[in-house]
Amino acid sequence: MKLHEFQSKKIFKEMGIPVPAGQLVLSTDEVEKALNTISGPPWVVKAQVHAGGRGKGGGVRIVRDLEEAVSAVEALLKAPLVTPQTTAEGVPVRRVLIEEGMNIEREFYLGMTVDRSAAMPTVIFSQAGGMEIEEVAARTPQLIQKEYVNPATGWMPYQARNLLFSLDSVPSPEIMRGLTSVMRKMYGLFLKLDCSLVEINPLVITKEGKVSALDAKITIDDNALFRQKELASLDDPEEKDPLERMAGEYNLNYIRLDGNIGAMVNGAGLAMATMDVIKLAGAEPANFLDVGGGATEEMITKGFEIILHDRRVKAILINIFGGILRCDVLARGVIEAARKNEVTVPLIVRLEGTNVESGRKILNESDLEFLVAGDLSEAAELVAKQV
Ligand code: GDP
Ligand code: MN
Repeated sequence: MKLHEFQSKKIFKEMGIPVPAGQLVLSTDEVEKALNTISGPPWVVKAQVHAGGRGKGGGVRIVRDLEEAVSAVEALLKAPLVTPQTTAEGVPVRRVLIEEGMNIEREFYLGMTVDRSAAMPTVIFSQAGGMEIEEVAARTPQLIQKEYVNPATGWMPYQARNLLFSLDSVPSPEIMRGLTSVMRKMYGLFLKLDCSLVEINPLVITKEGKVSALDAKITIDDNALFRQKELASLDDPEEKDPLERMAGEYNLNYIRLDGNIGAMVNGAGLAMATMDVIKLAGAEPANFLDVGGGATEEMITKGFEIILHDRRVKAILINIFGGILRCDVLARGVIEAARKNEVTVPLIVRLEGTNVESGRKILNESDLEFLVAGDLSEAAELVAKQV
């Protein structure tokens, strides 16, 4: 679950990580009051959307008076924001953060995530702050430093020194203390809130010698939300892809991809294998959809509906290995969805396992048109041929 910048900064502040003074506004009426409470000019007006790259897309604007601030807020709320990380249609902006402007002397990148291959939390630091870290990693990997955190010892002060002494020019002792304090507090926050990502880009040193988190990004591990109840209320479902949101409501593991073959599969491993064979057959999957081992008829219906609602999908492959999920339950769910939504694209079905005969019978006796594949590779070849 992703948090907005203003939500992340509130948490930073509570944990003692310095952030610029700021105020959230929902309309132009609130701008004057906000400016009166924040020192400036200049002020910085920032669109609050989950997508990054706002700076490049005009979502971060520096303003010098009330008039400029009002027109910047108005412009942001009026039209969808397009950034390198959104689609061409962009995303609607419903909230704007107004902050005190900072005189930037240096910009750093500081991030923390779990490195799955090392099986350890990892702190990532770079003197190339303010730029997209993926780009820095691709072009100038030598500018990125990492420290793995041993979960038994936690973050150690020497690790902060390792990162900071790797800088081309080492800051003054006072600023070093500021930066090490941010690193220590960030690790505390990462653990306490069950984060999968905490990112400050840029973390700046101002001309006045202050350390400040100019941007803030926190992602909470969804699997920990049961014990992070306060954070769960910060969820903003409107920021999610509508089909992913619908999938979330029914506990379906659904991820949108770029291709045009819709796939409905039970089990994450089988879903991965199905995507592999679709690619092997020369086609591209439009989604990953694992309905899960114990899917109910209703979940199957919703899963199939999600794929039918995706207008990019040109053919659908249903690949089910019935174990706990019985093939007759699957068949009834698919027919229920097909009754409510017209199926206008070719449908390929591969069924095996528990109650497969009755599942096939139910499908055959319906008016649903579909092709039957004997095995997985035949299914993939059949579906690839349809597009
Ligand atoms: P992102 O593009 O979505 O990551 O948004 P950021 O919050 O990182 O803002 C983009 C850029 O705007 C930053 O890298 C800074 O260079 C610039 N910026 C943000 N706040 C300020 C500020 O207070 N003063 C100045 N001069 N620049 C700022
Ligand atoms: Mn940023």
